[in-house]
Amino acid sequence: VARQQVVIVGAGFAGYHCARELSRHHPGTAEVTLINPTDYFLYLPLLPQVTGGLLNPQRVAVSLPATLPRVRLVLGQAAGVDIDAGRIRYLDVDGRPGEVHYDRLVFAAGSVNRLLPIPGITDFAHGYRSIAEALYLHDHLVRQVELADATDDASQRAARLTFVVVGAGYTGTEVAAHGQLLTRELLRRHPRLQGTPCRWLLVDTAERVIPGLDPRMSRAADRVFRRRGLEMRLGTSVTEATADGVQLSDGEFVPTRTLAWCVGVRPDPLVDRIGLPINQGRLVVDEYLTVPDHLDIYACGDAAAVPDPGRPGQPTAMTAQHAQRQGQLAARNIAASYGIGHRRPYRHHDLGFAVDLGGGAAAVNPFHVPVSGPLGAAMTIGYHLLALPSNPLSVTADWTLDLLTGRQAAQLGLVTPDTVRLDSSQPKPSGHAA
Ligand SMILES: Cc1cc2nc3c(=O)[nH]c(=O)nc-3n(C[C@H](O)[C@H](O)[C@H](O)COP(=O)(O)OP(=O)(O)OC[C@H]3O[C@@H](n4cnc5c(N)ncnc54)[C@H](O)[C@@H]3O)c2cc1C
Repeated sequence: VARQQVVIVGAGFAGYHCARELSRHHPGTAEVTLINPTDYFLYLPLLPQVTGGLLNPQRVAVSLPATLPRVRLVLGQAAGVDIDAGRIRYLDVDGRPGEVHYDRLVFAAGSVNRLLPIPGITDFAHGYRSIAEALYLHDHLVRQVELADATDDASQRAARLTFVVVGAGYTGTEVAAHGQLLTRELLRRHPRLQGTPCRWLLVDTAERVIPGLDPRMSRAADRVFRRRGLEMRLGTSVTEATADGVQLSDGEFVPTRTLAWCVGVRPDPLVDRIGLPINQGRLVVDEYLTVPDHLDIYACGDAAAVPDPGRPGQPTAMTAQHAQRQGQLAARNIAASYGIGHRRPYRHHDLGFAVDLGGGAAAVNPFHVPVSGPLGAAMTIGYHLLALPSNPLSVTADWTLDLLTGRQAAQLGLVTPDTVRLDSSQPKPSGHAA
């Protein structure tokens, strides 16, 4: 008898933990296939530390073959689902089409950068959710400081030493915090730039930084940023980006060569193409993570609108914490569908959040108790080391060494601007030419 096939689309927090739970705790249940464009699970919460020159990018890439040896990896992108035939179509990394049959499908394709219809964004801003984008921004920051040193033109130097981050959620907040500490350290290595002002602006339409989280965390981040001279431009948006700078909604034109786009994410566009019901762009599922009327299809993580038991009528927030637990639950409910254990509804309540501000500062609220300063920073690092499925010792070593010897500052130039262009297939404002 052919073994049952479980196919998981996406090896992010949800898909990775689903595959791991199935292969570790229910190894005989079915054959597990994971379709993902890379051979690693990317631990996204530590990307800002890669940009900040504190962590080597390989430390945040968890090898799939090394940590999931019993799972079959298909390196590619799922392109469509034939629900009646129980087949997934995909394109492998060489662009060749293929198909796999499933008895149970777990859809966990996550999310992509969210664009807003603002002129110039796709040309001059860079998104932030891949290793390539994190490395590109690191190199770009180093390059701006080096070019500022090389020029005698004061206005060009000022523009190169002005950095704008749009989006003050946890990603933008951490990118701005680590970016500013990196450029500050770089300036110290350039004696000719001593005393030259270096501006960092964090722009958001919200009235506080990290607006989705506990206000006490926002106040902690606010204090740190004021102390470091980082300008928080709240209640403000970018209305246009050009090669020379960005126009803010408060009327100021900010000359800059750097626009980091951290305005959040939207579910992976594949969700729209599957032809199943969606809510806010996410696949509709019940509390058992199954798609209504399709009990063989599960969805979890950012791509799924999982009912949040703590906020009736709302889907769970797009966080790693939810995605990981939903992936594990999908695995257990699949095992239950084969008669091993009982299926359970999703019941997780938020355990708090950690925002690393670098330099021994953080805003954390474990179990909703606010902690900041060095204790908060130590808790944040400890949390990530426990949550990382591999490499915790190497991460600790990297982090400690770089804190002692200084952040990594060489531009490797491995990522070209074209590789990290924001996806322009999203809606453009009328009249804007790409
Ligand atoms: C920079 C950054 C920092 C963050 N920091 C935090 C944090 O500190 N705490 C927190 O709780 N959350 C954080 N988040 C959010 C968190 O990372 C996401 O909520 C979480 O990754 C969602 O998990 P997921 O498995 O649904 O999707 P993802 O982790 O995005 O994984 C989706 C996977 O699916 C793959 N995929 C996409 N399309 C296809 C396809 N067609 N076929 C096959 N595979 C596909 C992708 O390549 C990826 O591997 C952060 C996000 C970012 C971008």
